[in-house]
Amino acid sequence: MRALVWFRADLRTVDNRALAQAARDAGASGSVVGVFTICPEQWRAHDWGVPRAGWTLRNLASLRDKLASLNIPLKIVTTPRFEGVPDALLSLAKRVMADALYLNREYEVNELSRDEAVTDLFEGSGIHVHAFHDQVVVPPDAVRTGQGSYYTVFSPYRRAWEKHLDENRELAEIDKEPRPCSDAGIASDDVPTSLDGYDLAPELDGPRAKLWKPGQDAAIARLKSFRGDRLKDYKNDRDFPAIDGTSVISPYLAVGAVSPRQCLAAARTQKGPGPTHWESELVWREFYRHVLVGYPRVCRNRAFRVETDRMDWEDASANLDAWKQGRTGIPIVDAGIRQLLETGWMHNRVRMIVAMFLTKNLLIDWREGERCFMNRLIDADFASNNGGWQWSASTGTDAAPYFRIFNPASQSRKFDPDGAYIRRFIPELKTLDNDSIHEPWEAGLARGVIDYPDPIVDLKSSRTRAIERFKRVLGSGVTYEEAPPEVDAPRSRTRKR
Ligand code: FAD
Repeated sequence: MRALVWFRADLRTVDNRALAQAARDAGASGSVVGVFTICPEQWRAHDWGVPRAGWTLRNLASLRDKLASLNIPLKIVTTPRFEGVPDALLSLAKRVMADALYLNREYEVNELSRDEAVTDLFEGSGIHVHAFHDQVVVPPDAVRTGQGSYYTVFSPYRRAWEKHLDENRELAEIDKEPRPCSDAGIASDDVPTSLDGYDLAPELDGPRAKLWKPGQDAAIARLKSFRGDRLKDYKNDRDFPAIDGTSVISPYLAVGAVSPRQCLAAARTQKGPGPTHWESELVWREFYRHVLVGYPRVCRNRAFRVETDRMDWEDASANLDAWKQGRTGIPIVDAGIRQLLETGWMHNRVRMIVAMFLTKNLLIDWREGERCFMNRLIDADFASNNGGWQWSASTGTDAAPYFRIFNPASQSRKFDPDGAYIRRFIPELKTLDNDSIHEPWEAGLARGVIDYPDPIVDLKSSRTRAIERFKRVLGSGVTYEEAPPEVDAPRSRTRKR
């Protein structure tokens, strides 16, 4: 028996449901072949930027080596768009004489239709397709409200998630790396170092390549060091961007160099507020996948709260450009964007601040921010990014109420009290004292004194403008166009950020 394993966002050999089952089915006498499909045009259409594309290829190269040690060759199929995948994959399956295809499910709409087309074609050709839930601990459609709909509020989702896991403990079990298979006698392909439409050189060779070590061993090392040093203090430290208080495991989860079950197991090795809170963050990741399966319109560029699609967003390209460049004149916002530009990653608290600033103070459509983040983040992940943007813009599930707008300067004073984070990413401001660094314009330290812009918007009046504009579409109460949630939870149950 020869099993073909189609790797996607699961670039690891340990605890990979599809790979583990393929190896079991192949048994000692059978062999396993891996394949990865590269679709540059589709990746661009999905707003994958150079960081995410480059990171994927670097992790793929690492996977190729791991697979080689198990006698599993890795084949690479390149086709511009998903539409080309079924034929290209079937032709490979025939070439390598595969008896069955194994894959871990992806949940976004284009990925689902691609997989349906592949399944139809393969089954029609007599090659059975085995699909697994691997990207999440609890499958997105496994939990429902009493009315059978998908959750739209996090807390009841989390309770249902925990109950389901308690009743189905095998979901958290970790699959060991398979034993080496018998040699398939097929050579691996080289992982490309160039891609149509992508300038990968800075990603593969530049300073960011040194910052981010690819592969499942690096992911586990990061998880171990977080569990050893920082997990117990996570609840206290996680909001302070100058502190190394979070796991920074998201780039590895995005490409699947680590599994959510491995993360959950790490959380559950300890008790206390830190591990409990960290587990809750892992559940947020699953919640946003549950939402996109239940409300696929979010995959189609639509707001979850459809009435917000009537919002009169500002057409302010100069402000958008300033925001994208980290030159808004609001230090915490600019520091966040510059962290993103420099490292490909941004601290969660700052992601929320910059997102709320764009969608509320600048009143720019959240889709602009969503696209920019997808394009620049090394951990770009559709569900979490869309969920985070729609949360910040008050257009999403369990989102921030539109009238609760972060004041970026107050956030900065609270979460970066001595300005260490701002100083790290905006060296122009490094000589300012701990007070003026949050609002340099208040101390008359704006343009002309140092090379740093005046604020592009007045924080107070722009807040009032946002509340008035949002009130027009959301003020009259909550309405949903389709699949209404069973309850609109009281605001006190929404997550405080
Ligand atoms: P930790 O704090 O250590 O948390 C552990 C893991 O839990 C994370 O790696 C992540 O998988 C998950 N998690 C934590 N917070 C969230 C959250 N709010 N939503 C969903 N999952 C969460 N995360 C991405 O992985 N990719 C994205 O593209 C992405 N875009 C975002 C955009 C915006 C506007 C916002 C507000 C958040 C976004 N997030 C995204 C969620 C969150 O910011 C990151 O997951 C987190 O900062 C990653 O750092 P960490 O691994 O140190 O997280």
